[in-house]
Amino acid sequence: QEDIFKNVISHAKEYGYIFPSSEIYDGLSAVYDYGQNGAELKKNIREYWWKAMVQMHENIVGIDAAIFMHPTTWKASGHIDAFSDPLIDNKDSKKRYRADVLIEDYAEKLNQKAQKEIAKAKKRFGDAFNEEEFVTTNARVIGYLSKKEEILKRMAHSLETENLADVKALIEELEIADPDTGSKNWTEVRQFNLMFGTKLGAEAANAMDLYLRPETAQGIFANFSNVQKTGRMKIPFGIAQTGKAFRNEIVARQFIFRMREFEQMEMQFFVRPGEEMKWYEYWKEARLKWHMSLGLGEENYRFHDHDKLAFYANAATDIEFNFPFGFKELEGIHSRTDHDLGSHEKFSGKKLQYFDTELNKNYVPYVIETSIGLDRMFLAVFSNSLKEETLEDGSTRTVLSLPVVLAPTKAAVLPLVKKDGLPDIAHEIIEDLKWDFNVAYDEKDAVGRRYRRQDALGTPFCITVDHQTLEDKTVTIRHRDTMKQDRVAIVDLRKIINDEVSV
Ligand code: ATP
Repeated sequence: QEDIFKNVISHAKEYGYIFPSSEIYDGLSAVYDYGQNGAELKKNIREYWWKAMVQMHENIVGIDAAIFMHPTTWKASGHIDAFSDPLIDNKDSKKRYRADVLIEDYAEKLNQKAQKEIAKAKKRFGDAFNEEEFVTTNARVIGYLSKKEEILKRMAHSLETENLADVKALIEELEIADPDTGSKNWTEVRQFNLMFGTKLGAEAANAMDLYLRPETAQGIFANFSNVQKTGRMKIPFGIAQTGKAFRNEIVARQFIFRMREFEQMEMQFFVRPGEEMKWYEYWKEARLKWHMSLGLGEENYRFHDHDKLAFYANAATDIEFNFPFGFKELEGIHSRTDHDLGSHEKFSGKKLQYFDTELNKNYVPYVIETSIGLDRMFLAVFSNSLKEETLEDGSTRTVLSLPVVLAPTKAAVLPLVKKDGLPDIAHEIIEDLKWDFNVAYDEKDAVGRRYRRQDALGTPFCITVDHQTLEDKTVTIRHRDTMKQDRVAIVDLRKIINDEVSV
């Protein structure tokens, strides 16, 4: 699995999808740049989301709020008081860690020990092996798994009750060592706010302390009344937004899964109090359908309903995706009651209410939120699409089978040879198709190698111009996933590609 993930990262770089940021200065940790193909894929995912959420819903509109917001926003949202991670330093190595991650890693090791026992027994007993029975009767496995549960429970409880001394006590009790140096000499655990601070204004004395937004949602809440009134929106309705968010993540590993600067695609759906559960269920289903429509495999998604809720929420779930490092959160769907608008009312002193003509009364609407990380979605699509295939003749090929609608380049046009007027025809085809699709030209190397290059880039179609084209104005069109080739008329190309793009 680790190898697969390494492959994903190197493929993303080699084919112009993702580069480490500031690489000429040896990079900046947990910050990444999207290259020429990555920018296109990312844009296509964003558009695919926007189309499904805004264009397809009469009662959802989109906005683009600023990254800077008035500092009181973050008091009202709770981010100043409660948006933090528990950190611990090692006194010898001077390295800083997330205390909860150290404990989770320890728990995971126990889990792996249990899995090893299970695998061993499976081998020994063969077909007669009953895993369920083994897990509930084998003393060693029971020991590992119950210890794991106990640790995680204790940690969750300590964090929830903000008993940071107990988090440290747990680390000491388990004798958790610095992963790099083995030292067990730890400091106290402290809460560390994840928001990036900055200043507005040139004069130091008058400068205003600002934060880079850690989520896009607050720009939506702050504009609730503006949009509702100017758009004459009637409940239930939604406001959507995509844009950058910033978090000073301490454990920033796993490539673009957890970055310090990332992009979110969020939608807040405003509903009548009391009707939120209906809409929560609606959006759970709608969002899962959206994911399924991309064809990455139903088995790669699952809901993770939260048992422990934030104090204001009355339901919450994550859509988890099977990333190369296991199932992890890709999207969150939350029923947030009137917490956000209500809190902004309190802090701003402005009414953020809705007059419901049917009920003939004013109220603060309840909110269902859907929130997905664009970069995480990118990673889901990219890692799921990267495949190493063994062909019938025993040779292998690397193919990036991106959903056609998301592929950065829809077709590459290839003249079979660089002479006899074939390149001219190829350019004419491009001139014609480029109004509708991103198309590329490639004349270097043998055509077989060009096909492989386009396979690895994720281009769904290769259009080859050969000598027969000169006679009858037909070309071959090769399909990336099946490698099947059809002879088709040049005039039909647009329709053939379009049919696939719009599936
Ligand atoms: P996690 O538990 O993984 O840190 P979260 O629960 O803090 O995520 P939310 O605050 O619910 O995440 O944010 C909504 C979505 O934004 C997440 O589902 C995820 O897709 C994305 N996201 C959050 N933090 C990051 C990050 N540091 N890098 C990339 N995407 C992120």
